Amino acid sequence: MSTDPTVVRDLALATPAGWRCPVVRWHRPTPHVRERHHVWPKGDGGPQQGPQAGICGACHNDTHALLELARDHGWLLVAGMHAGYAERVVELALLGIHAITTQTLPALPAWAEGTAA
Ligand SMILES: [Zn+2]
Ligand SMILES: [Zn+2]
Repeated sequence: MSTDPTVVRDLALATPAGWRCPVVRWHRPTPHVRERHHVWPKGDGGPQQGPQAGICGACHNDTHALLELARDHGWLLVAGMHAGYAERVVELALLGIHAITTQTLPALPAWAEGTAA
């Protein structure tokens, strides 16, 4: 587990009425807070102004849990490690891993565009 204090929760914002988490759109109850996830996490060298996905806190936690799991395995995310995680959580984690290991700015997934505040 990482204890890096720079791996922190990004700004949480109240969600507008009717907002749905783009990662898991069927959350019930509907999340009332969305958070900014830096696809290239700042704690892993990502830029402050890098691509950000606006996602709910639960999916944000999952994304970082998966990133930490990958970090603990030399940034490898192999079959089985992501069992139980939502498909888009895995997608965000893979984009983050690619950015970290290649030091290149990731693209924001099309489904996440416009969700960052
Ligand atoms: Zn994040
Ligand atoms: Zn979510």
